[in-house]
Parts: sequence; C-alpha cells; structure tokens
Amino acid sequence: MLKIEHIGIAVSNLEASNRLFTALLGNSPYKTEEVASEGVHTSFFQTGDSKIELLEASNPESSIAKFILKKGEGIHHIAFSVEDIKAEMKRLSEQGFILLSDEPKIGADNKLVCFLHPKSTNGVLIELCQEII
Ligand code: ZN
Repeated sequence: MLKIEHIGIAVSNLEASNRLFTALLGNSPYKTEEVASEGVHTSFFQTGDSKIELLEASNPESSIAKFILKKGEGIHHIAFSVEDIKAEMKRLSEQGFILLSDEPKIGADNKLVCFLHPKSTNGVLIELCQEII
C-alpha cells in the first residue's frame, strides 16, 4: 500500500458538514459527487497530501444511513492508495482478509475501490483505492 489516501467520515447533513469542514480546514471541498451505486453523496477536501471524504446517505437503504443509525456520525473508513488493486485484493484475500466485493468497483473521486470487512480488520472498514488513469 502506498499511503493513506483519505479518511471517510459519515455525516447526517452534507451541507452543514461542508460548512463545518470548510471552517475547520480553511478551504472548501474541491469536489462533491453522488455515487448512486453506493447510495451516497460525497464531498472531498484536500489537506496537504491527504484528503477527507464526507459521506451522506442519499437513501435510507444506504450503508451510511445504517452506520449512522448504529454508531452516529463519525469516522467511517480509512482508504489506502494502492498501485494495483487486483493484486492487493488477491494478496489480502489469500491472507484471510474478507473482501466486500470480488471485483474492484467504480468509487468516488475517479477511483477503483474495494472494501475489506471490518470483521477481519479490528473493526475498521478499510478501502483500497487505485487512481483511474
Ligand atoms: Zn472513501
């Protein structure tokens, strides 16, 4: 894995949280994007080399809606940047980590992504992401 690419934070109200994180970080989100397949509205903030992704549920069935019901707002996942997502998925599944999809999916911010089940990673949802060139 190359680095922590971003930290995902589940929020109830993206507009309000965009204002809060703009005030906190001193800069506005560089993009907002809906990922319909995941049922989320997202926004991304750049802070130096790292990013913060805010995620709001776009429907009640969204995993973000369920997360907030169970745990409230807060850190939702940590995303690691990888060079070759398929190779990393193979390596990690061979080591017993539980992947949430068999193939990489198209995620937010122009990335191929795959999530690891928190059950196999000490309760932390891990996202692998590879830049789509
Ligand atoms: Zn993410």
